[in-house]
Amino acid sequence: RIVFVNGEWKPEAEATISVFDRGLLFADAIYEVTAVINRKLIDYPGHTARLKRSLEALGIPAPVSDSELLDLHRQIIERNDLESGLIYLQISRGAADRDFLFADGMKPSIIMFTQKKNVLENTKWETGLSVVTVPEGRWANRQIKTVQLLYSSMVKTEAAKAGADDVFLVEDGLITEASSSNVHIVTKDGVLVTRHLSNALLHGITRASVLSLAQGSDLKVEERAFSVDEVLSAAEVFITSASAFVMPVVRVDGRSIGDGKPGPVSRKLLQTYIQDRLANAI
Ligand code: PMP
Repeated sequence: RIVFVNGEWKPEAEATISVFDRGLLFADAIYEVTAVINRKLIDYPGHTARLKRSLEALGIPAPVSDSELLDLHRQIIERNDLESGLIYLQISRGAADRDFLFADGMKPSIIMFTQKKNVLENTKWETGLSVVTVPEGRWANRQIKTVQLLYSSMVKTEAAKAGADDVFLVEDGLITEASSSNVHIVTKDGVLVTRHLSNALLHGITRASVLSLAQGSDLKVEERAFSVDEVLSAAEVFITSASAFVMPVVRVDGRSIGDGKPGPVSRKLLQTYIQDRLANAI
């Protein structure tokens, strides 16, 4: 792969970053993942808007302009012949001698790479996922998309060892998120319930798109926190993310959701999301 590192395009084996990069030493960095289909960017405006919010929240100056950022995305698609897959972009505060205090005048560093895969083919859409609930253990500012992903990585790995696909994080009896996606339920009365935006969760770009599509259909939407019990008694459960779009969840803590198969609302939202986002890809 050809990757972008500190202003240069390099074969991945030749790309280097400083040992003193604060992204490495303090997880002092933010990131975005954007899907590419037919060489076009899916939900790009949402991802760049969130990137800017994350930078602002941490006081990291934007290292490139909006048009430069879009140009970098276009170039990485070209340079890697990326028909379909993901673009990962990370911006750290930069490198400085190790110190808890942010140094003045640091130069943020950017890295970008691609992951080739056919994002329109996902066998899990047919079967749905099995998840287990675990305690929420992340920091309290989850609306900032930082690279502090260790807790989620640990609990997802433990879940995988136990045969599950993912975890639902639970705080005060309420679901915050899955390891790297937002969680939604469809109640037996046909209401789509998704947690309201706050610092407790990442403000998913796919979540926002799916909600606006749901609101445009005749589906009733409620934005509020919901409990593990509500998940277990839901008609459908699904998660949303830039890489898996709308993914049904059919088992939670070993118990089947609905009839244990992906439900009609999740299916429909997946189809509508793909159609609508492809039509709006840039
Ligand atoms: N929550 C978390 C914790 C995530 O890591 C992600 C994916 N990066 C999401 C939700 C989904 O966000 P998006 O739809 O913007 O990919």
